[in-house]
Amino acid sequence: MSQKENSLVDKFGRRVDYIRLSVTDRCDFRCVYCMTEDMTFLPRAQILSLEELYQVARAFTELGVKKIRLTGGEPMVRSDVMSLINRLGKLPGLEELLLTTNGAQLDKYAVPLKEAGLSRINISIDSLDAERFRRISRVGKLEKVLAGIDAARRAGFDRIKLNSVIMRGYNEDEVIPLADYALSRDIDIAFIEEMPLGEASDHSREETTCSNEWVRGQIEQKYRLLDSAEKTAGPSRYVQVIGKKSRIGFISPVSHNFCEDCNRVRVTVEGRLLLCLGNEHSVDLREILRGENSSHDDLKEAIIKSMDLKPERHYFYDKDHAQPVRLMNMTGG
Ligand code: SAM
Ligand code: SF4
Repeated sequence: MSQKENSLVDKFGRRVDYIRLSVTDRCDFRCVYCMTEDMTFLPRAQILSLEELYQVARAFTELGVKKIRLTGGEPMVRSDVMSLINRLGKLPGLEELLLTTNGAQLDKYAVPLKEAGLSRINISIDSLDAERFRRISRVGKLEKVLAGIDAARRAGFDRIKLNSVIMRGYNEDEVIPLADYALSRDIDIAFIEEMPLGEASDHSREETTCSNEWVRGQIEQKYRLLDSAEKTAGPSRYVQVIGKKSRIGFISPVSHNFCEDCNRVRVTVEGRLLLCLGNEHSVDLREILRGENSSHDDLKEAIIKSMDLKPERHYFYDKDHAQPVRLMNMTGG
């Protein structure tokens, strides 16, 4: 059997063909749900080099992974990240190369990203009001993100998707404006429930978390929604808006648990392979990458073995189970 057919299957029969690869823990924003105000970032020696990130991506694709999402932190703040993206764009076996970004630098990078072979872009935006946008991101400028979205559209990206975290007390009255904004541009939008990853310093998550059921109810006051037959693996469900090209997604890791369909794993920028967003099960790939006597095959072997560690599900807000202490920027969103 070739390595390619030797696909990654866990103890529960779930096939892993998707990785989220974090290229940095740093960011030019400090979103209230993702980071604390005064963050300490990892020292350079602890993070994977661009070459090591490429080796990890190569190992996964050789094991049958078809889809890689680059994330962080903010991927576009990593210096020379374009050289990695250019190489990944040509990686044999990789069918989709995706990026999740805060959009602040897309006015500059949308065209080079398209040329590098990036398949699709997700852009996070939680408010259309400049002052509020700044309150949520603590430092971000709304106009830069809007310019970034326009640049991505002009560059010809297909199925651009916006991501919005809706939080009570911050932006729960923006569900319709954000949906209108996406719909009027024929782009998709996904509403994400805030997850309890690490301690939020400005609010209590249990008070701010809005269920997607409530968000959907808001949208249904204005639009007729049709449940889409298309099923994406993971905690997202998409609906079609009748009469519109855009789809609306609901990513509900808190109120719903779709772990039975999970097809993904994450690799942090420290080279920690995380088998589940809501659990600490992990394997240190950096140790293998930097081991004097270890080879590329050892890396692949460790990835295959790690599948046995993938837990059945996560237990957000369940008092009988330990909650993750990692913030999202360390996890790779
Ligand atoms: N910086 C990029 C961005 O913001 O799109 C990529 C990394 S960010 C960690 C990826 C996604 O995770 C963003 O859409 C962000 O809104 C989301 N996110 C971060 N912390 C979260 C949390 N605690 N709960 C839910 N979503 C979160
Ligand atoms: Fe940065 Fe993205 Fe986290 Fe916001 S959500 S602080 S943009 S990494």
